[in-house]
Amino acid sequence: MKRKIIAAVIAGLLLFTGCSAEYSVNGTAGGNAGDSAKPADTTEKDADPLADRAFDRVIYDAMTVPYMSLRAYGQHAEDALIAGEVEIRRLDDLLSTGKADSDTARINANGRGTLSRDTAYLTEVSLDLHDSTGGAFDISVYPLMELWGFTSQFEDEKDNTGTSRREAPSDKEIADTLSLVDASKIEYDAETGGIILPDQMQIDFGGIAKGYTSQRIADIFRSNGVTSALIDLGGNIQTVGSKPDGSPWKVALNDRNRGTFLGVVQVKDMAVISSGGYERNFTASDGKVYHHIIDPATGYPADNGFSVDASVSIICSDGTMADGLSTSLYVMGPEKAIEYWRAHSDEFDFVLMTDDDKMYVSEGIEDSFSSDTYKYEIVRK
Ligand code: ADP
Ligand code: MG
Repeated sequence: MKRKIIAAVIAGLLLFTGCSAEYSVNGTAGGNAGDSAKPADTTEKDADPLADRAFDRVIYDAMTVPYMSLRAYGQHAEDALIAGEVEIRRLDDLLSTGKADSDTARINANGRGTLSRDTAYLTEVSLDLHDSTGGAFDISVYPLMELWGFTSQFEDEKDNTGTSRREAPSDKEIADTLSLVDASKIEYDAETGGIILPDQMQIDFGGIAKGYTSQRIADIFRSNGVTSALIDLGGNIQTVGSKPDGSPWKVALNDRNRGTFLGVVQVKDMAVISSGGYERNFTASDGKVYHHIIDPATGYPADNGFSVDASVSIICSDGTMADGLSTSLYVMGPEKAIEYWRAHSDEFDFVLMTDDDKMYVSEGIEDSFSSDTYKYEIVRK
């Protein structure tokens, strides 16, 4: 298959597609994997004459997820890709805080309501995560996101180097807004899907929605009979099965927009999802940089060892969890993140990179992760 390079500057990010025949790139630089269609050589191909043939669908939506690309193999691929794109649009309409008739906008405007199946599920997962992460993951941070100017509706003012420049809110504004944030005060009835928010509280699934979307697409692909696929939602990767030749997908972890990789993880049927302060931030006039993952304990951008120049990648079979955990562990900082993993080591693995270039890899991916760029410590249970 012909390699192609499309470079587009959307929201100040340089995004690539098809930049590597070998790797799928996780991080803000999204890419495709296994670009080369291999010659026919197995008997399995008799069952599915298109088993090795890649079908692609590239989706641009600058307002929400900047760049998405779906790749599926086999005779069911084309139908599955269409269903996948329909699902992306459906979930965007349902979850986007910026769309007046989305579930989230409706609940935020009215302070109460009944959630649809998807938002009910996301609420349950999010409230569980809030509990299990000691409040690090909190969907009620939305008023803080607005105050800091990190909502999808907010247009960053950029200078000619592509740097967003504005001032941080005052300590008083942050303290006042923080008083609205506490997901434990959300009243949610799992039986009916009814939700009631305290006065002025607003919610947003930004820390988990992309992972849920990729999980849904993976489920749709599987139920359409696709056994090999790669879902890339702006650098958040979810894989279905293995590559058509049976080998694992190789997902390269973006090294904080430095044009290099943290390393490569080989996976089958896994989501590989990263959070990083480098993905969205602004620089104040005193030179300080503020990023978009907010610590609900302080109201400020997370600064516990993961700040603007760090990254947290989660490898998990469930995309929703991978996304929720990438945000949560980012807020926690490396020490608490490792402690959390030790209590949940059956559920996921990680690659952590701190602001001062210390890299940690959990033992579950010891054999499937490699890095040419960095030395790292294997974290054991
Ligand atoms: P992305 O990859 O889209 O940047 P992340 O998974 O890194 O997303 O999460 C960042 C997003 O999560 C923010 O843009 C915001 O919508 C939301 N968010 C920020 N802080 C928190 C938090 N402490 N808990 C839950 N969601 C958060
Ligand atoms: Mg996340």
